[in-house]
Amino acid sequence: MRVYADNAATTHISDNALAEMIKYYGPEYENASSLHAYGQAAADALADARRRIAACLGCDERGIIFTSGGSEADNQALISAAHLGAKKGKKHLISTAVEHHAILHTLDKLKKEGFEVTLLPVDSKGRVTAGQVEDAIREDTALVSVMFANNEIGTVMPVKEIGAVCREKKVLFHTDAVQAAGHLRINVEEMNIDMLSVSAHKFHGPKGTGLLYAKRGIALESLICGGAQEKGKRAGTENLPAIMGMATALEDACRNLDEYTARVSALRDKVIDALSKIPRSIVNGDRENRLPNNVNMCFEGIEGESLLLMLDMYGIAASSGSACTSGSLDPSHVLLAIGLPHETAHGSLRLTFSEYTTEEEVDYIIDKVPGIVAKLRDMSPVWERMMKEEKANA
Ligand SMILES: *Cc1c(COP(=O)(O)O)cnc(C)c1O
Repeated sequence: MRVYADNAATTHISDNALAEMIKYYGPEYENASSLHAYGQAAADALADARRRIAACLGCDERGIIFTSGGSEADNQALISAAHLGAKKGKKHLISTAVEHHAILHTLDKLKKEGFEVTLLPVDSKGRVTAGQVEDAIREDTALVSVMFANNEIGTVMPVKEIGAVCREKKVLFHTDAVQAAGHLRINVEEMNIDMLSVSAHKFHGPKGTGLLYAKRGIALESLICGGAQEKGKRAGTENLPAIMGMATALEDACRNLDEYTARVSALRDKVIDALSKIPRSIVNGDRENRLPNNVNMCFEGIEGESLLLMLDMYGIAASSGSACTSGSLDPSHVLLAIGLPHETAHGSLRLTFSEYTTEEEVDYIIDKVPGIVAKLRDMSPVWERMMKEEKANA
């Protein structure tokens, strides 16, 4: 059996999104900047995509610019807000210890430019509070950037409350909503969000496309020099097929959101409850404020990588840490931030589901994981030592 449980890394494209894309790669291939009638039809399609996406996100369509994905949107949001702040002498940025590397590495770059960065610690469930943000805001704070939902442990942040604090203190608020879009209800206006990043391939849209929303009055800095596309905020011919695919995928996800949430969170809870019966296992993240499709657990005494390889032999595609950190021997910064010791953080398993995940697939996972964990522990010197210590302490 083949089970794909790595949807936080990427999702497969939906039939609807693909059909829409083929149309714009094929018969409707024109450039939205061309003045002839065909070009104008492309421009109309682009405007239509912007409207449809804005309706899903509860934002002003005029604030949306299309990017090459979540990473570019995150980069542009942070760099723009930092430079806008610097013009007014504000060179302090606030974010969290559990952000995606698209945020963390951009902050490192800004630090080298002379910005001061405060990374808020998270609690054992991976959350920051609005109170922490309030306490960290200073006279010279240019931006607060807190992710909507964490890509590794699935924890959902109190975005609306953090946004309210930022509004009150008149500090710009950006959220990396890449894991949230299409998976959680988002309303930019109601949630006090000034800037928001989205990526299409996390909700059954195409890879290499995303968007940045910025509230009116925030002068985004273009990261790419060239033409005046996207109101001069993002040069380069718009990737119309991908944008149309993204709009279709997001609309479908938003339309099915209630049904998706109910069905997939039940599968998630079934897996967490079943795998929690494995001795010395830990559920990472928050059981209350959690993405509907995320399971993240640690099994003491084993290596996450070995677990992944064994699961792979049974046809189960999962992940340990994030796709960006796997391949390196360092344990995930997120698992360390929630207070796990290095040794435990190495034994993590992330399973992320989608609307296409079936009960049968989930049962297959529940059937296979305990035996694999037991087998790996049998071969593990770390586990042997733990068992000795347990006996000695008994
Ligand atoms: C995937 C992801 C990104 C990067 O998005 P890309 O479109 O792959 O560049 C950024 N932030 C989070 C939280 C993600 O999960």
